[in-house]
Amino acid sequence: MSENLKKLNHNLSEISTWLKFDKIPWLIAGPCSAESEKQVLSIARKLTKSPHVKVFRAGVWKPRTRPNTFEGVGEVGLEWLKAVKAETSLLTTTEVANTQHVELCLDNDVDILWIVARTTVNPFLVQEIANSLKGVDVPVLVKNPINAELGLWLGAIERLYNAGITKLAAIHRGFSTYVRMAYRNNPNWQIPIELKRLLPNLPLICDPSHIGGRREFIEPISQTALDLGINGLMIETHNDPEKALSDSKQQITPSVLMKLLDKLRARNTAITDEQVKRQIARLRAEISHADSQIIQDLAERMKWVEEIGKLKQEHNISVLQINRWEHLLKDHMAKAKQLGLESEFIKAVFELIHAEAVKRQL
Ligand code: PEP
Ligand code: MN
Repeated sequence: MSENLKKLNHNLSEISTWLKFDKIPWLIAGPCSAESEKQVLSIARKLTKSPHVKVFRAGVWKPRTRPNTFEGVGEVGLEWLKAVKAETSLLTTTEVANTQHVELCLDNDVDILWIVARTTVNPFLVQEIANSLKGVDVPVLVKNPINAELGLWLGAIERLYNAGITKLAAIHRGFSTYVRMAYRNNPNWQIPIELKRLLPNLPLICDPSHIGGRREFIEPISQTALDLGINGLMIETHNDPEKALSDSKQQITPSVLMKLLDKLRARNTAITDEQVKRQIARLRAEISHADSQIIQDLAERMKWVEEIGKLKQEHNISVLQINRWEHLLKDHMAKAKQLGLESEFIKAVFELIHAEAVKRQL
C-alpha cells in the first residue's frame, strides 16, 4: 500500500461515529428519484418499520443518459427530505454532481452526500466538489465510476480526503459493459475487493439495484455482497415501482424489501468458534500449498519457454505459432471442463500465461 493510502486508511472516521447501526445488513433505502412530497414521506414512513433501514435516499437531480427524460425535481426535493428528517429518525442522503448541489444540500441539512458514478469518472468535477467541502464535516459516499477502473474510484476518495473529509464510504454499483449481459452493470467483484484490500477501514456498500437493473436480481446480488462481508446495502424502494419516473424496472416496494430482508443471511466476518478456526487454518494451509505448487510450476514452464525461444531464434522460426496456441487452448479448456473447472476461467488464465511466454521469447 502506498504511504498516502496508508495514511488515508488510518485517518478515516470509524463508521459508528457517523452512522449507528445494530443490524446487518444495514440499509440506505428510498426511491431512485424524489417525485413528490407525498411519495417521499409515505415511502419513508414504511421504511421506518425495518430496524435495518438507517438512511433514506432520494435523487433530486438525476443524471440521465438521454435528455427529455425526467431529470429530477430539483431544489424543492430538499424540502421533502427535510420533512422526512423531521418526521422519522432516518438520516437523509441525496446525490451531488456539482458545487451548486453541494451548497444547496448543506443549506438544507442533508445528512450525507453521495457522488454518482457519472461524476466519479470526472476528476475535475470531483475536485470542484471536494474544494466546496473544505472545512465541512459531512459524510460522503462515493459510487464507483461507470467504467471498470479502480484508479478513478480511489482518486475520487483521495480528493475528498485531501479536502478534509474523513467520513467516507464507497458504494459499489457495478460497471458499464459494452457486451450485453443479464445484469445492467457488471459487478466485477474483484474491483471492490481490491479497494477493500487497499483501504480496509473504508466501509463498502453494495447497490444491487443499479448492478442488477431488474427487481429479481436484487436478492442474489445482495446475498453475494453479504457472503463477501459487505454489510451495507443501498436498495431503491418505491411505492409504485411500475410507475416510477426513473429506474422503474429495478425498484421494489417497501413491503417486498421487508420480505427480502427476512430472507438474506448475514455472515460473520470474525471466526470465533475454535474448532471452525482450526478447520479453516487446515484448509488455508492446503490452499497455500496448492498456490506455491502453481508458482513453482509456472517458473518451470517459463524455463522451458525460454529454451524453446532460443531454439526458435537459432532456426529463424517465428515466436508466435498460432496453430499450436489454438490447439493448446482447446486442449486445456476441454481438460478443465472434465475436472469441473469453468473453461472460460482456464482460458483467461492461459491467455495471461501465454502472453508472458511470448514476451519471454522476444
Ligand atoms: C442512483 O443511485 O440513483 C444513481 C443515479 O446512481 P448511479 O451513479 O449508480 O447510476
Ligand atoms: Mn436509480
